[in-house]
Amino acid sequence: MQNRRKFIKNASLLSLGGALAGKSDFANAVTLSEYSAREGKKIGLQIYSLGRELYDDVPGGLKKIREMGYSTLELAGYRDGKINNIEMVEFRKMADDAGLKIISSHLNPPAREYTSSNKGEIADFWKKAADDHAKIGVRYIVQPGQPSTRSVEEVSLVCEVFNEAGRIAKENGLIFGYHNHDMEFARVIPEGKEMVFGRRAFGRNMPEDAEVIYDGFLRQTDPELVIFQLDVYWAVMGQNDPVEYMQKYPGRIRLLHIKDKAVLGQSGMMNFEKIFTQAYKNGIQDYFVELERLPSGTQFEGVKECADYLLNASFVK
Ligand code: MG
Repeated sequence: MQNRRKFIKNASLLSLGGALAGKSDFANAVTLSEYSAREGKKIGLQIYSLGRELYDDVPGGLKKIREMGYSTLELAGYRDGKINNIEMVEFRKMADDAGLKIISSHLNPPAREYTSSNKGEIADFWKKAADDHAKIGVRYIVQPGQPSTRSVEEVSLVCEVFNEAGRIAKENGLIFGYHNHDMEFARVIPEGKEMVFGRRAFGRNMPEDAEVIYDGFLRQTDPELVIFQLDVYWAVMGQNDPVEYMQKYPGRIRLLHIKDKAVLGQSGMMNFEKIFTQAYKNGIQDYFVELERLPSGTQFEGVKECADYLLNASFVK
Protein backbone atom coordinates (compact mmCIF):
# COMPACT_ATOMS: atom_id res chain seq x y z
CA MET A 1 0.00 0.00 0.00
CA GLN A 2 1.32 3.44 -0.85
CA ASN A 3 1.91 5.85 1.96
CA ARG A 4 0.29 9.27 1.82
CA ARG A 5 3.42 11.19 0.87
CA LYS A 6 4.17 8.78 -1.96
CA PHE A 7 0.60 8.97 -3.18
CA ILE A 8 0.59 12.78 -3.26
CA LYS A 9 3.96 12.83 -5.02
CA ASN A 10 2.79 10.37 -7.66
CA ALA A 11 -0.52 12.13 -8.12
CA SER A 12 1.16 15.48 -8.70
CA LEU A 13 3.58 13.97 -11.21
CA LEU A 14 0.75 12.34 -13.09
CA SER A 15 -1.12 15.61 -13.33
CA LEU A 16 1.99 17.40 -14.58
CA GLY A 17 2.59 14.66 -17.15
CA GLY A 18 -1.05 14.84 -18.19
CA ALA A 19 -0.90 18.60 -18.62
CA LEU A 20 2.21 18.36 -20.78
CA ALA A 21 0.89 15.48 -22.84
CA GLY A 22 -2.28 17.43 -23.54
CA LYS A 23 -0.40 20.46 -24.84
CA SER A 24 2.15 19.12 -27.21
CA ASP A 25 3.17 22.54 -28.58
CA PHE A 26 3.87 23.73 -25.09
CA ALA A 27 5.75 20.55 -24.27
CA ASN A 28 7.95 20.94 -27.33
CA ALA A 29 8.90 24.46 -26.32
CA VAL A 30 10.09 23.34 -22.88
CA THR A 31 13.76 22.49 -22.71
CA LEU A 32 15.08 19.49 -20.90
CA SER A 33 16.59 21.55 -18.10
CA GLU A 34 13.24 23.18 -17.48
CA TYR A 35 11.61 19.75 -17.19
CA SER A 36 14.23 18.69 -14.70
CA ALA A 37 13.84 21.84 -12.65
CA ARG A 38 10.12 21.24 -12.35
CA GLU A 39 10.25 17.63 -11.36
CA GLY A 40 13.55 17.87 -9.60
CA LYS A 41 14.72 14.63 -11.16
CA LYS A 42 15.92 13.79 -14.65
CA ILE A 43 15.28 10.10 -15.18
CA GLY A 44 16.14 8.32 -18.40
CA LEU A 45 14.81 5.10 -19.88
CA GLN A 46 16.43 2.58 -22.22
CA ILE A 47 13.49 1.68 -24.49
CA TYR A 48 14.62 -1.96 -24.70
CA SER A 49 12.96 -2.18 -21.25
CA LEU A 50 9.52 -2.08 -22.88
CA GLY A 51 10.20 -4.87 -25.37
CA ARG A 52 7.55 -5.37 -28.05
CA GLU A 53 4.91 -3.63 -25.93
CA LEU A 54 6.16 -0.21 -27.04
CA TYR A 55 5.45 -1.04 -30.68
CA ASP A 56 1.75 -1.68 -30.13
CA ASP A 57 1.35 2.11 -30.01
CA VAL A 58 4.58 4.13 -30.03
CA PRO A 59 3.11 7.67 -29.67
CA GLY A 60 0.80 6.53 -26.84
CA GLY A 61 3.54 4.48 -25.18
CA LEU A 62 5.98 7.39 -25.20
CA LYS A 63 3.37 9.64 -23.59
CA LYS A 64 2.86 7.03 -20.86
CA ILE A 65 6.61 7.00 -20.23
CA ARG A 66 6.61 10.79 -19.87
CA GLU A 67 3.70 10.63 -17.44
CA MET A 68 5.60 8.14 -15.31
CA GLY A 69 8.28 10.80 -14.75
CA TYR A 70 10.91 9.88 -17.34
CA SER A 71 12.29 12.77 -19.35
CA THR A 72 15.10 11.27 -21.45
CA LEU A 73 15.39 8.22 -23.70
CA GLU A 74 18.06 5.90 -24.94
CA LEU A 75 17.11 4.11 -28.15
CA ALA A 76 17.64 0.45 -29.08
CA GLY A 77 16.90 -1.39 -32.32
CA TYR A 78 18.83 0.76 -34.82
CA ARG A 79 19.13 -0.66 -38.30
CA ASP A 80 19.71 1.17 -41.59
CA GLY A 81 18.45 4.55 -40.45
CA LYS A 82 15.47 3.09 -38.62
CA ILE A 83 14.55 2.18 -35.08
CA ASN A 84 12.68 -1.09 -35.25
CA ASN A 85 11.49 -0.20 -38.76
CA ILE A 86 10.40 3.32 -37.81
CA GLU A 87 12.22 6.15 -39.60
CA MET A 88 14.42 7.86 -37.02
CA VAL A 89 13.10 11.31 -37.87
CA GLU A 90 9.60 9.98 -37.25
CA PHE A 91 10.69 8.47 -33.92
CA ARG A 92 12.23 11.78 -32.88
CA LYS A 93 8.99 13.58 -33.72
CA MET A 94 6.95 11.16 -31.60
CA ALA A 95 9.38 11.63 -28.70
CA ASP A 96 9.12 15.42 -29.06
CA ASP A 97 5.34 15.19 -29.02
CA ALA A 98 5.52 13.18 -25.81
CA GLY A 99 7.96 15.66 -24.23
CA LEU A 100 10.85 13.19 -24.19
CA LYS A 101 14.40 13.96 -25.25
CA ILE A 102 16.41 11.25 -27.05
CA ILE A 103 19.99 11.61 -25.91
CA SER A 104 21.52 8.20 -26.53
CA SER A 105 21.21 5.08 -28.68
CA HIS A 106 22.44 1.48 -28.45
CA LEU A 107 23.74 -0.17 -31.60
CA ASN A 108 26.22 -2.85 -32.62
CA PRO A 109 28.40 -3.08 -35.71
CA PRO A 110 27.77 -6.04 -38.05
CA ALA A 111 30.72 -8.20 -36.89
CA ARG A 112 31.43 -9.71 -33.48
CA GLU A 113 34.95 -10.79 -34.30
CA TYR A 114 37.21 -7.91 -35.32
CA THR A 115 40.03 -8.59 -37.74
CA SER A 116 42.36 -6.36 -39.73
CA SER A 117 40.29 -7.25 -42.82
CA ASN A 118 36.85 -6.22 -41.50
CA LYS A 119 37.93 -3.00 -39.75
CA GLY A 120 36.89 -1.01 -42.83
CA GLU A 121 33.42 -2.55 -42.91
CA ILE A 122 32.96 -1.74 -39.20
CA ALA A 123 34.11 1.85 -39.75
CA ASP A 124 31.59 2.18 -42.62
CA PHE A 125 28.83 1.02 -40.27
CA TRP A 126 29.77 3.71 -37.73
CA LYS A 127 29.96 6.41 -40.43
CA LYS A 128 26.39 5.73 -41.56
CA ALA A 129 25.15 5.26 -37.97
CA ALA A 130 26.79 8.49 -36.75
CA ASP A 131 25.30 10.43 -39.65
CA ASP A 132 21.82 8.98 -39.01
CA HIS A 133 21.99 9.75 -35.29
CA ALA A 134 23.40 13.26 -35.75
CA LYS A 135 20.34 14.08 -37.86
CA ILE A 136 18.00 13.50 -34.91
CA GLY A 137 20.17 15.29 -32.34
CA VAL A 138 21.32 12.26 -30.34
CA ARG A 139 24.41 12.91 -28.19
CA TYR A 140 25.75 9.41 -27.49
CA ILE A 141 26.06 6.32 -29.66
CA VAL A 142 26.79 3.34 -27.43
CA GLN A 143 27.88 -0.18 -28.32
CA PRO A 144 26.31 -2.72 -25.93
CA GLY A 145 27.69 -5.94 -27.43
CA GLN A 146 31.05 -7.38 -26.41
CA PRO A 147 33.23 -8.23 -29.39
CA SER A 148 35.43 -11.31 -29.32
CA THR A 149 38.15 -10.79 -26.69
CA ARG A 150 39.96 -14.09 -26.08
CA SER A 151 43.46 -12.71 -25.73
CA VAL A 152 45.38 -9.55 -24.85
CA GLU A 153 45.95 -9.06 -28.61
CA GLU A 154 42.21 -9.22 -29.38
CA VAL A 155 41.51 -6.70 -26.60
CA SER A 156 44.03 -4.33 -28.21
CA LEU A 157 42.47 -4.72 -31.66
CA VAL A 158 39.00 -4.07 -30.21
CA CYS A 159 40.33 -0.88 -28.61
CA GLU A 160 41.71 0.29 -31.98
CA VAL A 161 38.27 -0.27 -33.50
CA PHE A 162 36.60 1.57 -30.58
CA ASN A 163 38.99 4.50 -31.02
CA GLU A 164 38.11 4.65 -34.72
CA ALA A 165 34.37 4.56 -33.88
CA GLY A 166 35.06 7.38 -31.42
CA ARG A 167 36.81 9.43 -34.09
CA ILE A 168 33.90 8.95 -36.49
CA ALA A 169 31.39 9.87 -33.77
CA LYS A 170 33.38 13.00 -32.89
CA GLU A 171 33.52 14.11 -36.54
CA ASN A 172 29.72 13.99 -36.48
CA GLY A 173 29.46 15.90 -33.20
CA LEU A 174 28.62 12.74 -31.21
CA ILE A 175 30.28 10.79 -28.41
CA PHE A 176 31.00 7.06 -28.73
CA GLY A 177 30.56 4.88 -25.66
CA TYR A 178 30.83 1.24 -24.67
CA HIS A 179 28.33 -0.57 -22.42
CA ASN A 180 29.34 -3.67 -20.45
CA HIS A 181 27.71 -6.91 -19.41
CA ASP A 182 29.43 -9.35 -17.02
CA MET A 183 32.00 -11.06 -19.25
CA GLU A 184 34.07 -7.89 -19.65
CA PHE A 185 35.19 -8.70 -16.10
CA ALA A 186 36.81 -11.94 -17.26
CA ARG A 187 40.59 -12.04 -17.74
CA VAL A 188 42.84 -12.69 -20.71
CA ILE A 189 46.51 -13.49 -21.25
CA PRO A 190 48.85 -12.82 -24.22
CA GLU A 191 48.12 -15.23 -27.08
CA GLY A 192 45.30 -16.72 -24.98
CA LYS A 193 42.56 -18.87 -26.46
CA GLU A 194 39.68 -17.90 -24.13
CA MET A 195 38.58 -15.33 -21.60
CA VAL A 196 38.28 -16.77 -18.11
CA PHE A 197 35.86 -15.50 -15.51
CA GLY A 198 36.22 -15.15 -11.74
CA ARG A 199 38.09 -17.63 -9.56
CA ARG A 200 38.35 -20.07 -12.46
CA ALA A 201 41.05 -17.81 -13.92
CA PHE A 202 43.53 -18.79 -11.24
CA GLY A 203 42.70 -22.47 -11.53
CA ARG A 204 43.87 -22.24 -15.16
CA ASN A 205 47.30 -21.01 -14.16
CA MET A 206 46.52 -17.48 -15.20
CA PRO A 207 48.99 -15.09 -13.58
CA GLU A 208 47.55 -12.99 -10.73
CA ASP A 209 48.06 -9.89 -12.84
CA ALA A 210 46.25 -11.28 -15.92
CA GLU A 211 44.32 -8.30 -17.21
CA VAL A 212 40.58 -7.85 -16.74
CA ILE A 213 39.14 -7.11 -20.21
CA TYR A 214 37.20 -4.05 -18.99
CA ASP A 215 40.38 -2.55 -17.53
CA GLY A 216 42.11 -3.24 -20.84
CA PHE A 217 39.34 -1.32 -22.63
CA LEU A 218 39.69 1.58 -20.20
CA ARG A 219 43.47 1.61 -20.50
CA GLN A 220 43.80 1.29 -24.27
CA THR A 221 41.00 3.49 -25.54
CA ASP A 222 41.62 7.20 -26.03
CA PRO A 223 39.86 9.26 -23.31
CA GLU A 224 39.23 11.94 -25.94
CA LEU A 225 37.34 9.46 -28.14
CA VAL A 226 35.70 6.77 -26.01
CA ILE A 227 33.54 7.00 -22.90
CA PHE A 228 32.04 4.19 -20.83
CA GLN A 229 28.45 3.52 -19.88
CA LEU A 230 28.68 1.38 -16.76
CA ASP A 231 25.83 -1.07 -16.37
CA VAL A 232 25.86 -1.30 -12.59
CA TYR A 233 23.91 -4.57 -12.41
CA TRP A 234 26.16 -6.36 -14.87
CA ALA A 235 29.24 -5.04 -13.02
CA VAL A 236 27.89 -6.73 -9.88
CA MET A 237 27.13 -9.90 -11.85
CA GLY A 238 30.73 -9.66 -13.04
CA GLN A 239 31.72 -9.84 -9.33
CA ASN A 240 32.84 -6.23 -9.21
CA ASP A 241 31.76 -3.13 -7.33
CA PRO A 242 30.41 -0.45 -9.69
CA VAL A 243 31.23 2.22 -7.07
CA GLU A 244 34.90 1.20 -7.04
CA TYR A 245 35.03 1.46 -10.83
CA MET A 246 33.45 4.92 -10.73
CA GLN A 247 36.02 5.95 -8.10
CA LYS A 248 38.88 4.55 -10.13
CA TYR A 249 37.80 5.97 -13.51
CA PRO A 250 35.84 9.17 -12.76
CA GLY A 251 36.60 10.79 -16.12
CA ARG A 252 35.90 7.73 -18.24
CA ILE A 253 32.58 6.44 -16.87
CA ARG A 254 30.19 9.13 -18.02
CA LEU A 255 26.87 7.28 -18.33
CA LEU A 256 25.13 4.61 -16.28
CA HIS A 257 22.60 1.88 -16.76
CA ILE A 258 20.56 1.73 -13.59
CA LYS A 259 19.44 -1.84 -13.49
CA ASP A 260 18.58 -4.58 -11.01
CA LYS A 261 17.70 -8.24 -11.41
CA ALA A 262 14.12 -7.14 -12.17
CA VAL A 263 12.32 -4.02 -10.83
CA LEU A 264 14.79 -1.58 -9.22
CA GLY A 265 15.37 -2.06 -5.52
CA GLN A 266 13.58 -5.38 -5.19
CA SER A 267 16.41 -7.92 -5.32
CA GLY A 268 18.31 -6.41 -2.39
CA MET A 269 21.57 -7.06 -4.22
CA MET A 270 22.10 -3.51 -5.52
CA ASN A 271 23.19 -0.60 -3.31
CA PHE A 272 21.68 2.21 -5.37
CA GLU A 273 22.23 4.79 -2.65
CA LYS A 274 26.01 4.31 -2.86
CA ILE A 275 25.88 4.18 -6.66
CA PHE A 276 23.97 7.47 -6.96
CA THR A 277 26.11 9.17 -4.29
CA GLN A 278 29.26 8.31 -6.25
CA ALA A 279 27.67 9.23 -9.59
CA TYR A 280 26.87 12.74 -8.31
CA LYS A 281 30.37 13.04 -6.88
CA ASN A 282 31.74 12.21 -10.36
CA GLY A 283 29.39 14.68 -12.05
CA ILE A 284 27.61 11.98 -14.08
CA GLN A 285 24.72 13.74 -15.83
CA ASP A 286 22.78 10.98 -17.50
CA TYR A 287 21.60 7.50 -16.68
CA PHE A 288 19.03 5.14 -18.09
CA VAL A 289 16.80 2.66 -16.32
CA GLU A 290 16.93 -0.78 -17.86
CA LEU A 291 14.58 -3.65 -17.18
CA GLU A 292 14.81 -7.20 -18.52
CA ARG A 293 11.70 -9.24 -19.40
CA LEU A 294 9.57 -9.67 -16.31
CA PRO A 295 8.17 -13.10 -15.42
CA SER A 296 4.71 -11.60 -14.79
CA GLY A 297 2.85 -8.35 -15.46
CA THR A 298 3.58 -5.97 -18.31
CA GLN A 299 6.87 -4.24 -19.06
CA PHE A 300 5.06 -0.89 -18.82
CA GLU A 301 4.04 -1.75 -15.24
CA GLY A 302 7.61 -2.71 -14.36
CA VAL A 303 9.04 0.44 -15.95
CA LYS A 304 6.58 2.53 -13.93
CA GLU A 305 7.60 0.74 -10.71
CA CYS A 306 11.24 1.58 -11.52
CA ALA A 307 10.34 5.27 -11.99
CA ASP A 308 8.39 5.26 -8.70
CA TYR A 309 11.39 3.75 -6.93
CA LEU A 310 13.69 6.54 -8.17
CA LEU A 311 11.15 9.34 -7.65
CA ASN A 312 10.65 8.20 -4.06
CA ALA A 313 14.34 7.60 -3.31
CA SER A 314 15.77 10.48 -1.26
CA PHE A 315 19.27 9.72 -2.59
CA VAL A 316 18.19 10.46 -6.20
CA LYS A 317 18.42 14.17 -6.94
MG1 MG B 1 22.39 -2.43 -19.70
